[in-house]
Amino acid sequence: AKPVIAIVGRPNVGKSTIFNWIVGDRMAIVEDKPGITRDRLYGTGEWLGTSFNVIDTGGIELDGEDSILRSVRVQAELAIEEADVILFMVDGKAGVTPDDEEIARILFKSGKPVVLAVNKVDNIQRQELIYEFYSLGFGDPIAISGAHGLGLGDMLEAAARHF
Ligand code: GDP
Ligand code: MG
Repeated sequence: AKPVIAIVGRPNVGKSTIFNWIVGDRMAIVEDKPGITRDRLYGTGEWLGTSFNVIDTGGIELDGEDSILRSVRVQAELAIEEADVILFMVDGKAGVTPDDEEIARILFKSGKPVVLAVNKVDNIQRQELIYEFYSLGFGDPIAISGAHGLGLGDMLEAAARHF
């Protein structure tokens, strides 16, 4: 089976933007589970000739649920179940938020390998945006920009170390 990367993070950090960069039009076809919409959540990507599956967990919509933490818990559960490596995405412009810290706790408990990607570092000169994210406890944060396609090779390289 192909290795699986799950993208996890609070809403609006850029998960779907990065998912689309990785996947392009290589969407995987999966069956919906009752209560969970999986349309456009699964795709395949390639890194240096290695093919992998990628999940945009943030696209999951729960019937009758609107709490961010509840939906993130479900995201994390899915990621823990299915992923070989979790891509934990945060927003470099927003800085560390309480929701990021809560997600970090959930991911830490999972015991899965986590790669921390700081999105929206749109300018090479803004690398200092990543430093405060060391506090999340997942080692070196990787600066990326979904808007400009920066840092994605470094990010996939870090993820592929756990395949
Ligand atoms: P998701 O909710 O985590 O899936 O986030 P989206 O991919 O929908 O992106 C949320 C918003 O952030 C959108 O308005 C994107 O255009 C914007 N965005 C995504 N990546 C970047 C980035 O690298 N830089 C900037 N400045 N904005 C971004
Ligand atoms: Mg999204």
